[in-house]
Amino acid sequence: MTGHQLVEMEILLTDEIRQVEAHLANSSDSTAAVQVDTSIGRLSRADAMLTQEMAKEARRRMEQRLSKLRLALARLDQGEFGLCVRCKKEIGFERLQMQAEALVCAGCAAE
Ligand SMILES: [Zn+2]
Repeated sequence: MTGHQLVEMEILLTDEIRQVEAHLANSSDSTAAVQVDTSIGRLSRADAMLTQEMAKEARRRMEQRLSKLRLALARLDQGEFGLCVRCKKEIGFERLQMQAEALVCAGCAAE
């Protein structure tokens, strides 16, 4: 990976981390417990709980993504970014542009 590509990835990672952090900060209220309101029907309540579960799941996935992005940024600082953790070969730049947090190359990921 060229120095220019590394700079590009650092910008991309920093940007994505900021976006995910902002999203998580804004969505904290949506996962608040569903009030058991007897004035709404059982179906609406089930619906509200399902929506809440989906929001929780989305949030959990986003938190996982955030930690992966932070790890990728740390690897970039250590000069290990872009190297497959399994075969130690360079991960294709196009793959990294699509998935900056990727830790394995396309070949290893397909195994
Ligand atoms: Zn590999």
